[in-house]
Amino acid sequence: MSASLPSTIIFDLDDCLWSPEMYTLRSIPSKPVKGPLGAHGEGVIGMKCSSGETVKLFPAALKILQRIASNEFENVTFGVASSSEEPSYSRACLQGLEILPGVKMDSLFPIQAIGRTGGLTSRKTTHFSSLKKQHPSMVFTDTLFFDDCNWGDHVGDLNNALGVKGVRTPNGLTEEEFETGLSMFNK
Ligand SMILES: [Mg+2]
Repeated sequence: MSASLPSTIIFDLDDCLWSPEMYTLRSIPSKPVKGPLGAHGEGVIGMKCSSGETVKLFPAALKILQRIASNEFENVTFGVASSSEEPSYSRACLQGLEILPGVKMDSLFPIQAIGRTGGLTSRKTTHFSSLKKQHPSMVFTDTLFFDDCNWGDHVGDLNNALGVKGVRTPNGLTEEEFETGLSMFNK
């Protein structure tokens, strides 16, 4: 099999890339928490709420996002699709968390659909319509999607409705799940 990649890779946020889920937070994550970014030096590894909770990436998600930030997948467009009930909290985390020192998580994702208002609902087909408007050359059947699916089968729904290939990440994205997803595009 030759290595071949999808043209677009989309990630869910809550319980896929980071934890805990935004709806469980009692206030906006506003305070950067510094710490080690794996083997890549120090950076913002958490965003803390005044109510005490701290949002952090899953360890494997950080490693995968570091590969993306290091341009291992330079011809792939990356995005996020989240039906967060607190999109302003999600954006605060995207704009605060660092992947490499000085490299904000937000900068990795040129296309983003977050929330369940303004055309977005709890069904992620609405998020994919928004992503396609932001990136018209997006081809759903050449798109890979990761989602924990603990609240509903977004992966199955998007596959049935739009032909998107996806992988469920019930305990947060792992490196094995990421490789499984990539292998679905080997020709
Ligand atoms: Mg989720």
